[in-house]
Amino acid sequence: MDVIVLGGGLMGTASAYFLARRGARVKLIERNRIGTGATVASFGNIRRTGRHLPQLPLAHRSLRLWGEAEKMLGRDVEFRATGHIRLIFDQGGLADMRAYAEAARPWGLELQELEPREIRARFPGLGPEAVAASFSPHDGSGNPRLIAPAFAEAARRRGADIVEEAQVEKVERTGSGFLIATSKGSFGAACLLNAAGAWGARIAALFGEHVPLEARGPQMGVTEPLPHRVLPVVGIWTRDKDYGAYLRQVERGNIVFGGAAERVAANLDPGHAVPDPMRLPVQLRAVARLLPAIANVAVIRTWSGCEGYVRDMLPVIGRSATTPGLFHAFGFSGHGFQLGPGVGEAMAELITTGRSETPLEAFAIDRFN
Ligand SMILES: Cc1cc2nc3c(=O)[nH]c(=O)nc-3n(C[C@H](O)[C@H](O)[C@H](O)COP(=O)(O)OP(=O)(O)OC[C@H]3O[C@@H](n4cnc5c(N)ncnc54)[C@H](O)[C@@H]3O)c2cc1C
Repeated sequence: MDVIVLGGGLMGTASAYFLARRGARVKLIERNRIGTGATVASFGNIRRTGRHLPQLPLAHRSLRLWGEAEKMLGRDVEFRATGHIRLIFDQGGLADMRAYAEAARPWGLELQELEPREIRARFPGLGPEAVAASFSPHDGSGNPRLIAPAFAEAARRRGADIVEEAQVEKVERTGSGFLIATSKGSFGAACLLNAAGAWGARIAALFGEHVPLEARGPQMGVTEPLPHRVLPVVGIWTRDKDYGAYLRQVERGNIVFGGAAERVAANLDPGHAVPDPMRLPVQLRAVARLLPAIANVAVIRTWSGCEGYVRDMLPVIGRSATTPGLFHAFGFSGHGFQLGPGVGEAMAELITTGRSETPLEAFAIDRFN
């Protein structure tokens, strides 16, 4: 079976790898360099807490693959199952956490509830005013710079052809499949996987499928390095979006943070999201509530990345509703990093066997009709 994968972010590279592993002949076409879209900009959170419940089977599948990534890809992509803590500062947050924990349990996600005493003992320095927290011990983080190149390299070793810096000029259906004309030549295949991230809705529209997607950029920052003290990824349960921050300390000591500030607008052409320094004070106030020590630390860089947000904040995953042989995996609405390996494996399964063991119906493209 021949498959062209359009887009070389985490979704495209993971799909290319798993397709090649299943024996498909794969050509991945990326107009820039591998992994330089939303993927490289990611905070790197491998988090299941708070996910839309029907997404949890895919998230569990993906977490298992993150755990196997080093062996599978032959490279340490810095997946660390450090645990994910979400601090709670008021009764509204506590009620939301308990309701979510109860609803998520039948979906296979067990959250521990921590009391203030346990938070102080296990995670000194975090949220001194917190009244409770949820803790998910098997979640963690990975390195957003490493994962897509690692999948692409592993796909290449299994025979996939990875074409970078190819400007796509035409995407069309032919009698027997699809034809993609690019600045690096024309390629044909029986199947086409649209993994074009924030640009995926444009590809879908070529086939008469309209997805309400807006490109925006979450804003990230990183501090100077400090002694390594904060192990888990840290977030919050709150109804006040001005306090909806998250952080993690990388092993080199820098604290990476995001959230709280409104996402910046991003233009799909050229597709760069630029952080707004005026949003940094709001972010830092929210981060300081989680980790007061950050007040004395210098922020050395801020950045953003162009991500596709679908109106219902869920991705589009599955087969096309209009065109046989066409598949979609795009619009990950700010939470695709965790899902990437699972999406790749599920898409490869769907394309090569016609079905996926993980239910994908909640993400069907025709849900907007
Ligand atoms: C700042 C930021 C922080 C984030 N933090 C997290 C997090 O902590 N946890 C989490 O789970 N998720 C997070 N996300 C979301 C996550 O990073 C994305 O959902 C995920 O990386 C999307 O991967 P992708 O492959 O779909 O898209 P991308 O990585 O954007 O890849 C799409 C690729 O398609 C290419 N392309 C587009 N059009 C064409 C075309 N016509 N021809 C050829 N190539 C094309 C692009 O150049 C791009 O390389 C974050 C996102 C951002 C921006």
